[in-house]
Amino acid sequence: MSIKGGDSVRAFIIRKNAVSDWIKHLARKNSVSFPQRAGHSGFRFKPVLETSEIQFEHYRPTLAPPGKQLTPAREVLFKYRKNATADPMLESVLDSQARVLAGVRPCDLKAIDLMDRVNREGFSNPHYLTRRENTVIIAHDCLQPCDAACFCAATGSLHWRANADVFLTSLDDEILVECLSERGIALAQGDHFTLCENTEPHKKRAEALRTQPFGRQFPVPLEQLPAIIAKQWQSRVWEKHVEHCFSCGSCNMVCPTCYCFNVVDDFNLADGDSGTRTSTWDGCMLPNFSEVAGGHNFRPHPAARQRHRVKRKFEYLSQRFQEPGFCIGCGRCARQCTAQIDIFSIVSDLVSQGENDPCVP
Ligand code: SF4
Ligand code: SF4
Repeated sequence: MSIKGGDSVRAFIIRKNAVSDWIKHLARKNSVSFPQRAGHSGFRFKPVLETSEIQFEHYRPTLAPPGKQLTPAREVLFKYRKNATADPMLESVLDSQARVLAGVRPCDLKAIDLMDRVNREGFSNPHYLTRRENTVIIAHDCLQPCDAACFCAATGSLHWRANADVFLTSLDDEILVECLSERGIALAQGDHFTLCENTEPHKKRAEALRTQPFGRQFPVPLEQLPAIIAKQWQSRVWEKHVEHCFSCGSCNMVCPTCYCFNVVDDFNLADGDSGTRTSTWDGCMLPNFSEVAGGHNFRPHPAARQRHRVKRKFEYLSQRFQEPGFCIGCGRCARQCTAQIDIFSIVSDLVSQGENDPCVP
């Protein structure tokens, strides 16, 4: 929900040391998740408790992206029961719990926007859309790359803010709070907030603080990639980058724009009349993802599966949704890959490879 009006009615300044109190205050009334430390160096989106550490510095991308909270790894879609005298009973299971995702970075914000489009256009997914409708997003800008694996600027994610309800920018010891929706305005209430009449000096200050260049860059602009990759079907690059692949599917599971799923029916043997239909995450890098009836697998080789994954991110979905990239450059797939396979290097190699180079089965 967008708001009308100028910046003066929707921007505030809050002291950095008051943010933790504000987020915890929200968590007393709502279900709020925030990226918090897990283990020695990792971060995970976890529920905010009174004891939670809420800070925006020293961030490392979470293992699972925040958008995965809108599509759980396993969820019951509906329950059914046979009826001897009428049509069977079907009861949809929809999760309408109100939730706040706080501390979402611009790359993950773009991923949620892309998933909104996937779940709205064509076949609309009521399970995703019900959760999304009840989710408010507090995003936070990045002024430095998270680490060497990310390439958000190259994928056009770095400056994303369109679908945030509140957008925060850290500036020295204060934070610029921009409310971009009515729901966002409702969250930014209290003594901590000072009205900001003119956001421009703060935005200029943020740009001066932002690292330049920001992380890794592709050899060509993002808009050129779909056409270049469309020509690369039989390239040596596909084989080269799966030499050590375990086909574990981790790259799919942590990706904020992978959304393939499997569906199973669980029949209740106790009563013989009822059951549930459940969806679970699936991934195109898993060997049996492309297995069909009769046992035929139309992508039996890891190189063919890698080709499908990359083409989906930079060609197929780009063409379908008129968006140059469905990879948001978060680097999660490379970070989690035991074989250190990096989609940025694959794409860069495809660009330098140029024309077809026969090899892949
Ligand atoms: S995470 Fe790495 S090893 Fe596992 S399937 Fe993906 S590319 Fe292969
Ligand atoms: S393909 Fe890798 S870098 Fe791109 S969005 Fe998915 S996890 Fe992030």
